[in-house]
Amino acid sequence: MERIDHWIDGRRVSCTSGRSAPVFNPATGEQAAEVGLASAAEVDAAVAAASAAAREWRRVSLARRSAVLFAFRELLARHSGELAGIVTSEHGKVLSDAAGEVARGLENVEFATGVPQLLKGGFSEQVSTGVDVYSIRQPLGVVAGITPFNFPVMVPLWMCANAVACGNAFVLKPSEKDPSASLRLAELWQEAGLPDGVFGVVQGDREAVDALIGHPGVAALSFVGSTPIARSIYERAAAAGKRVQALGGAKNHMVVLPDADLDLAADAAVSAGYGSAGERCMAVSVVVAVGDVGDRLVEAIAARIPKVKVGAGSDPDVEMGPLVTAEHRDRVAGYVEAGAASGARVVVDGRRAEVPAGGFFLGPTLLDGVHPASSVYTDEIFGPVLSVVRTATYAEALELVNSNPYANGVAIFTRDGGAARELQFDVEVGMVGVNVPIPVPVAYYSFGGWKASLFGDSHMYGPEGVHFYTRGKVVTSRWPDPSTSVVDLGFPRTH
Ligand code: NAD
Repeated sequence: MERIDHWIDGRRVSCTSGRSAPVFNPATGEQAAEVGLASAAEVDAAVAAASAAAREWRRVSLARRSAVLFAFRELLARHSGELAGIVTSEHGKVLSDAAGEVARGLENVEFATGVPQLLKGGFSEQVSTGVDVYSIRQPLGVVAGITPFNFPVMVPLWMCANAVACGNAFVLKPSEKDPSASLRLAELWQEAGLPDGVFGVVQGDREAVDALIGHPGVAALSFVGSTPIARSIYERAAAAGKRVQALGGAKNHMVVLPDADLDLAADAAVSAGYGSAGERCMAVSVVVAVGDVGDRLVEAIAARIPKVKVGAGSDPDVEMGPLVTAEHRDRVAGYVEAGAASGARVVVDGRRAEVPAGGFFLGPTLLDGVHPASSVYTDEIFGPVLSVVRTATYAEALELVNSNPYANGVAIFTRDGGAARELQFDVEVGMVGVNVPIPVPVAYYSFGGWKASLFGDSHMYGPEGVHFYTRGKVVTSRWPDPSTSVVDLGFPRTH
């Protein structure tokens, strides 16, 4: 059985805790590997190596750091197929989707290559006679990232590209469900010329996370995962005096107005609802059908579902792969039952879909007439289940979205520019799409939800990422009157 262990100080290090967890191939349901689960002592070793490396790395010139990022970018691009294959084998998503994940992660490295520009400070000349003031941004030291199973390449890159570019050392604690990609990223960083220790990986579960939260050598924590864990990590890490950003779960709505391009909206609902088997934090989970669009829209979505081919993600003809574990598949299937019991109409039942035997498969499900009080609406399902809620008016739809505690993404489908403009200002959600179902910002903006989808005030990557991984310093400096200078400047000074 293959072992997946840590990466500390530039090399693979075996786990010594005696604890491990199985890693599955979700398409076959078979165990493919075993991942070590770090003890506090192993986390301590990773942080110690990172601390030593951080002291040197922060002194490396911006030009040199940028050169390492350019090299890393090239290596990621060259190995994107291989990385996508690793993601598919442990996560289950289809290869094209996994390649898309690598491409979206790579954007963050491209952004971070501009670190000489990104770290420019401000300068005010002559604020008082002979006095200048300027600001600089400096790295924090060792920063840690705790990432979810659903984007094992992209989410670590959301964090580490900027963290490393800004002069920090980064310790990654990836999901124990698909840990292999983290080690390949570490090898590529090393090949790109990053000094040993600047990027480390500790595999693990809660024990490793608790050790990072309590470690005095860790200055900041970035977390992406479910809301209950995000809230707990935010509270505990803040209490331990750390800078923390914790992105949580989601329940994303797609509001469809009666004037929407129906084909565009139905295509978007299918790709954003069932892509990656709904295991995306920006997946559309609720379609809000406004006015008389409901029947037409439900029919158009239902007509498309049989064309979604479900199977192993490694098969290029397949559009939707399995869920990540058997337990998660069973939990998601339970929501189909709960939806029916709460009075929703099961238009398409994913439990009846023809799927390959053995793997953790579930077909796409469509529920109509979902009541906002039912668990199908209130809970984050994180699977291929689309719920249609009908509202009489746009105002009712907006009220529904704004009453939901989750607030990651929202989309509106309409031909009415005025309605779209109204929604973008009035909706209490962090990321808005206008005729775009999954509005993940490009790397030169920042990613983050509101309310229960983000704890902390910094969004991730982009300009807010640079801000999060640096702290500001302001210098006020006075130089003596030049008339007293020992150097003859050869002309009268005016300042
Ligand atoms: P999760 O919360 O179960 O796990 C996330 C990370 O936390 C993993 O590394 C895991 O090992 C660790 N962890 C799990 N339980 C813990 C505990 N009790 N204490 C400390 N650490 C713990 O999430 P997941 O199932 O891996 O990922 C899916 C979730 O992530 C969904 O809720 C999804 O919406 C969310 N997500 C959010 C975003 C976003 O940007 N907001 C992006 C991707 C995923």
